[in-house]
Amino acid sequence: MIVGIDLGTTHSLVGTYGENGPVLFPNALGEYLTPSVVSVDEQGHVIVGQAARDRMVSHPGASVATFKRWMGTPRETVLGSHRFRPEELSALILRSLIADAEAATGETVTEAVISVPAYFSDAQRKATRAAGELAGIRVERLINEPTAAALAYGMQEKQDGARFLVFDLGGGTFDVSVLELFEGVVEVHASAGDNFLGGEDFLDVLETAFCADQKLSLEALTPQEHGQLRRRLEQAKCELGANSTASVEWRQGEHIHGWQIDEERFARLSETLVQRMRTPLERAMRDARLQPTQLDEIVLVGGASRMPLVARLVSRMFGRLPLRHVNPDQAIALGACVAAGLKARDQRLDEVILTDVCPYTLGTKVSRRDEKGNEQTGFFAPIIHRNSTVPVSREEVFQPMRDHQTKLTLEVYQGENPMVERNIKLGQLEIPLPPKRSMAENAVRLRFTYDINGVLQVEAELMATGQRYELVLEQNPGLLDSAEIRERLAALQDIKVHPRDKQENIAILARAERLYEEYVAARSQLQQWIAYFRSILDSQDDHLIREHRRQFGEALDTLEASA
Ligand code: AMP
Repeated sequence: MIVGIDLGTTHSLVGTYGENGPVLFPNALGEYLTPSVVSVDEQGHVIVGQAARDRMVSHPGASVATFKRWMGTPRETVLGSHRFRPEELSALILRSLIADAEAATGETVTEAVISVPAYFSDAQRKATRAAGELAGIRVERLINEPTAAALAYGMQEKQDGARFLVFDLGGGTFDVSVLELFEGVVEVHASAGDNFLGGEDFLDVLETAFCADQKLSLEALTPQEHGQLRRRLEQAKCELGANSTASVEWRQGEHIHGWQIDEERFARLSETLVQRMRTPLERAMRDARLQPTQLDEIVLVGGASRMPLVARLVSRMFGRLPLRHVNPDQAIALGACVAAGLKARDQRLDEVILTDVCPYTLGTKVSRRDEKGNEQTGFFAPIIHRNSTVPVSREEVFQPMRDHQTKLTLEVYQGENPMVERNIKLGQLEIPLPPKRSMAENAVRLRFTYDINGVLQVEAELMATGQRYELVLEQNPGLLDSAEIRERLAALQDIKVHPRDKQENIAILARAERLYEEYVAARSQLQQWIAYFRSILDSQDDHLIREHRRQFGEALDTLEASA
């Protein structure tokens, strides 16, 4: 079975293309959204999802979230006695989603289409594919999140020429894409975004305001206190979508901090972030050469797009109300399921073909002679321009700077700056040149091919001899090579993960432990409940466990509601 996966910063979802269209699968707790959080317990077992998120409060040093932001970097996270790279943490999430899909269907998952932000770099895309490999599945196709969102909104069923703008504000990233339907094909005309702007930043705004009003210093809070405070503020942030005011009560030791904020103040405090959202919106429209009136629909996706200030910004900029009828948390996953259906060559989807764009300019470093004949180097010569429709293949001819040059070094860069030093170097290719030849005789044809999965192939041909060279990118410090992936796959397989049928027990204990941290006054009560539930677990009587888990859950609900 091929599944569609939204591997999100805060939540992840899984589904497939079923008989009646895209369907999502619930996790072991019955939820479609699995928090993208990983934790390691005292026995060294890995815990993923809601229980791990609760453990962010009770065991912050053994839990990690928002690691999607580190994809493509070698950053390691220590949890208990394990060290994980971001692609390994993502692999643990993927494994949990795969288990959910397999439990729901009884089929084996062999492959996934995974959505990635349109703005993800080559390294980030490769890291996402590596995460798939580490989870034991094939990932041949990555789909840009906005493209997936457009599929969830059924863009392919619109009239030819329809243009959509997809506004996606998730937990950690912001993406804007302009899409056009042309002869049944969804084309991405332009994409822009900000890899470091999302719902979490708005939470930071609330946190700063709370601390200023309450005369608190964030640095003085323990990790537990900080975790609890963020949970309270997160609730308030969501409440501000439905109500004009939200209140927060947060207990620090014996002291209770009471606080109120209204939507207007929140919007005012968020003004800098709102302004930052304008830039990618304007850039995408400029790149697509469109006026706001030429857009047919604007769709909002990503949990944070529920904030009223988002709809206000869009209405102000585009003079119309955006579409938001598909659950903004599920739109991308549903679209990834449509793409999974496409991948499986499902009959019903045969008509729809997708195109994507290369989200950045790719090129090489060149030197030039100024008017005095002095050689100046470090210029960026673009070969594939940003927003070219993929797959794309372009070639250019370059000459060495001097006669009798014996070697040509071709450096490959990604970026938008005319000087290479401001762009990202992807690799280099050394081409030995035949001796005693003029510049013109040693001309080299350079071909860049960028495919639908964000993989760049660089070929150089020495035109005089026909000799070809292909770029083997230098080992990128942010990525694992295939030998390392094999090694880490073996290591990951040794890590113990609690069986799926025990997840509800683990989750309720994690929740009770979080409440133990949060509600000092209820500690002895919680301690008793935890000990009692553990003794019930020891009985291994499934019926008894289920009954007590239900009662335990109700008791925790009551405690949380009354505290
Ligand atoms: P995503 O990455 O799409 O799962 O989006 C998660 C982000 O959406 C988090 O930052 C959440 O705080 C935010 N979010 C979810 N629901 C709401 C809501 N009702 N109001 C405001 N933000 C929300």
